[in-house]
Amino acid sequence: MLKHLLSGADLDAATATLILDTAAEMATVAGREVKKLPALRGRTVVNLFYEDSTRTRISFEAAAKRLSADVINFSAKGSSVSKGESLKDTALTLQAMGADAVVIRHPASGAPHRLANWVEGSVLNAGDGTHEHPTQALLDAYTMRARLGRIAGLSVAVVGDVLHSRVARSNVLLLATLGAKVTLVGPPTLIPVDIGAALAPGTEVSYDLDAVLPTSDVVMMLRVQRERMADSYFPSAREYARRYGLDGPRMARLPDHAIVMHPGPMNRGMEIAPEVADSPRSTIVEQVANGVSVRMAVLYLLLGGMH
Ligand code: ASP
Repeated sequence: MLKHLLSGADLDAATATLILDTAAEMATVAGREVKKLPALRGRTVVNLFYEDSTRTRISFEAAAKRLSADVINFSAKGSSVSKGESLKDTALTLQAMGADAVVIRHPASGAPHRLANWVEGSVLNAGDGTHEHPTQALLDAYTMRARLGRIAGLSVAVVGDVLHSRVARSNVLLLATLGAKVTLVGPPTLIPVDIGAALAPGTEVSYDLDAVLPTSDVVMMLRVQRERMADSYFPSAREYARRYGLDGPRMARLPDHAIVMHPGPMNRGMEIAPEVADSPRSTIVEQVANGVSVRMAVLYLLLGGMH
């Protein structure tokens, strides 16, 4: 049984489908007046965030609270971490406090994997460096299934700053497992060779967004992560938007049923135009709502439901 969720590769099709089905059940709780289930009463979930985050941290907190867990929020700023305490010593502290699950976001790729060796509870990767963000991939898959009725057979274009995107890597892995066809689209400088077919066989690469749009069921726009860019990967923001930004005329090339996704936070006017972000095709707000249901399902299954 799954104890930790560190990577999209941890999920086989049956486990991923179980999580999505459980999330659909959890979603019904959000519609109730009392949005709470007793499932994790008496269990402790620690949110350990070494990087800024709005939606992911709040989403995990809401998910744990809706399951009646006790939640401890631990942010690196203002803690002994800023005094130089190592991840291992922090882990041992959390262990001593009886954490049943630790949700970790960390700027270093692989930090959640290390943490999993040091604590007895479950570790959930909430984003590690440019590596992985598996609950984002699950909530994206949930959103595709809710809007389009299936995942297998869908053509999904993942567009933009693939190089710096943990969202892209986790999505490539999970979507391949669930039978979707992924095409990575962006400037060659932002598509690393290790994330295409080398990561999941069948994954394709294109440098021409206009050519890919007419056959896409889903377009997932990625944020251009300037804070992770030491060099310049494209000539200018304007040039990037012209070639790889999704604006209204470009959106019109999509089939009628196609949806537009973005994990947030958006650079409006760069990778996505406001008219696209706010259009009926956009699932951006649904993705946030679905994130809570999916994280409830993951916490529930890792902490009890799968034993
Ligand atoms: N919020 C997502 C992440 O933390 C995507 C992004 O930051 O662009 O990976």
